[in-house]
Amino acid sequence: MILTNISNELKTEEAKRNWFDYWTHFSESPKSYCSEINCCNSNSHGAIVKKETHFKSDTFVIPLCEKHSNNYTFQIEVSDAVEMIPIDFCL
Ligand SMILES: [Zn+2]
Repeated sequence: MILTNISNELKTEEAKRNWFDYWTHFSESPKSYCSEINCCNSNSHGAIVKKETHFKSDTFVIPLCEKHSNNYTFQIEVSDAVEMIPIDFCL
């Protein structure tokens, strides 16, 4: 599926790692891979994405590898199996 990456506001390495910690906290399988569909690197950074439907858009956190995290792309194709954690869970 294609997601809209809105992580351009995550300017620091620390912010990306903090969102990765958030994702790991809620994930049922945190030891896994980058969400990008063709990537086999292990995940280490969080990204904030929007999934849009006809009626609404929801915001989620997904894990990416360092390379995909640092090469910001507005749209990113991810595996349908990726675990997407809603951004508004309470820690
Ligand atoms: Zn990757």
